[in-house]
Amino acid sequence: MSRERVEELTKLLNQYNKEYYVLDKPSVSDKEYDRLMQELIELESQFPELKSVTSPTVRIGGAVLEGFNKVEHEKPMLSLANAFNESDLRDFDSRVRKVSPQVTYVCELKIDGLAVTLHYRDGHFVQGATRGDGVVGEDISENLKTIQTIPLQIPYTNPLEVRGEVYMSKATLEKLNKQRAEKGEELFANPRNAAAGSLRQLDSKIAAKRELAMFCYSVPSAFELNCSTHEQSLQKIEELGFNVNSNREVCQSIDEVLAYIEKWSTARFDLPYEIDGIVIKVNQLEEQEKLGSTVKSPRWAIAYKFPAEEVETILKDIIFTVGRTGMVTPNAVLEPVRVAGTRVSRATLHNEDYVKERDIRIFDRVVIRKAGEIIPEVVKPVVDSRNGEEVPFQMIEECPRCGSHLVREVGEADHYCLNIDCPARIVESLCHFVSRDAMNIEGLGVKVVEQLYVNQLISNVADIYKLKKEQLLPLERMGEKKVSNLLTAIESSKQNSLEKLLFGLGIRHVGSKTAKVLAAHFETIEALMNATFEDFKVISEIGDVIANSILHYFSQEANLHLIQELKELQLNMTYTGIKSSSTEMNEFFGKTVVLTGTLTTLSRKEAGEQLEALGAKVSGSVSAKTDYLVAGEKSGSKLKKAQELGITILDEETMLKMMGR
Ligand code: NAD
Repeated sequence: MSRERVEELTKLLNQYNKEYYVLDKPSVSDKEYDRLMQELIELESQFPELKSVTSPTVRIGGAVLEGFNKVEHEKPMLSLANAFNESDLRDFDSRVRKVSPQVTYVCELKIDGLAVTLHYRDGHFVQGATRGDGVVGEDISENLKTIQTIPLQIPYTNPLEVRGEVYMSKATLEKLNKQRAEKGEELFANPRNAAAGSLRQLDSKIAAKRELAMFCYSVPSAFELNCSTHEQSLQKIEELGFNVNSNREVCQSIDEVLAYIEKWSTARFDLPYEIDGIVIKVNQLEEQEKLGSTVKSPRWAIAYKFPAEEVETILKDIIFTVGRTGMVTPNAVLEPVRVAGTRVSRATLHNEDYVKERDIRIFDRVVIRKAGEIIPEVVKPVVDSRNGEEVPFQMIEECPRCGSHLVREVGEADHYCLNIDCPARIVESLCHFVSRDAMNIEGLGVKVVEQLYVNQLISNVADIYKLKKEQLLPLERMGEKKVSNLLTAIESSKQNSLEKLLFGLGIRHVGSKTAKVLAAHFETIEALMNATFEDFKVISEIGDVIANSILHYFSQEANLHLIQELKELQLNMTYTGIKSSSTEMNEFFGKTVVLTGTLTTLSRKEAGEQLEALGAKVSGSVSAKTDYLVAGEKSGSKLKKAQELGITILDEETMLKMMGR
C-alpha cells in the first residue's frame, strides 16, 4: 500500500515538475504540489527502504530546454527546504543552534520569480544562466542583458558571481495577461511562470518587451568580497550597482523572525511584485559553511511559505463558454472580491462533475482560493450560510450559442457542442488561427474577430485573407491606420513557416510543438497530406493517437477544400525553419545580419525571423562584425556605415534568393 502510494506520488510530482519547470505551465496549484511533496517526505521517513536516489524529494525539478546552451554551475544552485508553520520554524532554529548556537538570521522576501546566476569578468557582465536541475542550467545571457536592473558593468574587476530572482511586477503581468486574453492566448498562471516563460525565449526581443526586473540575494563566494556575514555581502553588491531588496531584516532570534513573517503576511499585498514566502538565512558565513547542505538544499536556510489566501464571496451566476473544439465550460460569475491582491470576478468551474461533487449552487456563499496563481478556484460552498434560496446546478443540454444538443461521451468529463457551424466555435477557431503561436496576426484580437464575424466578413480562416480595405473602413473603431496595419499583418503572415499554419488549423492533438515536429519532418503540406500511418511511425514524437487524428483531418473533404483555398490565396505551405541536414549549407548560417530600410515583400520583423530560422544572428546595429546588411528602400545611416566598413550589402531580392525563396 505505502509502496504503491510512494510510486504514485513520485509519478505525479515528476509530472508536475515537468509542467512547472520545463513547460512553464503548471496544472495544479503550488499548495497542492507542496501537500503531495510533504506526504512523500513523510512516507519516505517512515519507510526509508522506499526512498530512491532519484526521488523528487532529493532532486531539483528543473531541466534545460532545447535550443539553449548548457552552463555547468561552479557551485550548485540549490532549492530551499520549506516551513509551513511556527513549529517548522522552531524546529529549524533548534537544528541550526545545535551546530551554531550564536547565529543571527537575515529574513528576506521570497520573490516569486525565477532563480538566475550572473557572471562578471573584468567588471563586465559575461554570462547568465537559469538554475536548471541545479547542476546544469540554460545560458540566457542575451535575454538577461535586456533587463534594466542588471548592471552590464560594475566597478569590481575580480571574477564575481551574483545570484538572484528575475521577476515580473504585478502590473506588468496583469497587462501581459490582458493582451494575451485579447489575442485568445493562454494566460500565465503566476508571476513565476510569466518570468520563466519570458526569459526562456530564444528570441531576446520578446524578453526585452516583457519588462522584467531582478533582485539579487546571494554571492556564492562572499568571502572573496571580504565579508563575514550575508548581510555585509548584500550591502557590498548593492554598492556595486546590483538591485537588492531593501525589505530585509537582521533578526537576533526566531521570535523576531516570526514577527517579521507576521508583518509581511499582510503587508505583501501592497508590494508591486508577488512574494510567496519569506526566506530565512543564517547570517554568519562561517556558520553557513559549518552547517553545510543536503543534495537539495542548504541546512542554513529555510523558506517559509504563506498559506494560500482564501476569501468568501457570493456566486451570482453560472455561465457557459464554448471553446473551439466545442468543449463547454461552466464559469462562476462572482461578486467581485479582492484575493491575494487582485480583484476577482470570474472563476472556472471546470465541468459538471466538479460542480456536482462539491454541490456548488447559484447564490451560494463560496470559498475562493488563489495560491499565488492568477486563475482562482472555487473551493467549496459555505453550506452553513444557505437560506434556501440557492439554486442547485443544472448542466445545460443545449449549446448556449447555437442551441445544438450537447454530447458527453462515456468516460469523459466534458460536454461538447458538435455543430461545426456553431458561431462560438467558429470565433474561437478564428482566434486560435491568428494567435501568436499560430499565424500571429497582430491586430486581430478576440473583439476584432467577433466584430468581423458578426459583420459577416469572416466565417472561416480563408476569409481573413480576402478582407478588403473598403470592407473594414466603415466598421466601428476602424481608422485608416488600424486597417492598413491589419492588412499588412495579414499579408505578411502568408510567409509563415508551415508549422504555424499547421498549428493554426486546429487539428486535434496537434499542439505547437507537434506542429513543428511535423513541419520539420515532412517539409511541405503535400508530403504531410500524403503520409500514411507507417510514415508517422518513424517519428518518435508522434504516437498513434496523433497520427490517426492527422489522417482523419486530411480525409475530410471540407478540410482539403480549405487547404486548397489557402494555397490559392498564396499562403506558404512549406517549412522554412532549420532543416536537419541542409541547415548548415545555407549562406546565412552563423552570419550576423542587419536589416534596414523598408522591405516590400515582407516586414523587417518577418525577414528577421526567417533569417534566424536559417541560423543567422540578426543584429540591430552595423559593426565590423556584421556579415551582411540587407538594405530596403530609404536606407539611411546604417547603409552609409556599412559602406564605410566595406560590408556586403544585399538588396531584398538577393536576400530572398539566398534564403532559397
Ligand atoms: P522554492 O521556490 O520553494 O525555493 C527556492 C527558490 O526560492 C530559489 O531557487 C529562488 O528561486 C527563490 N527565492 C526567491 N527569493 C529568494 C531569496 N530572497 N533568497 C533565496 N531564494 C529566493 O523552491 P523551488 O525548488 O524553486 O520550487 C519548489 C516550489 O515550486 C514548490 O514548493 C512549489 O511551491 C512550486 N512548484 C509547483 C509545481 C506545480 O505544479 N504547481 C511544480 C513544481 C514546483
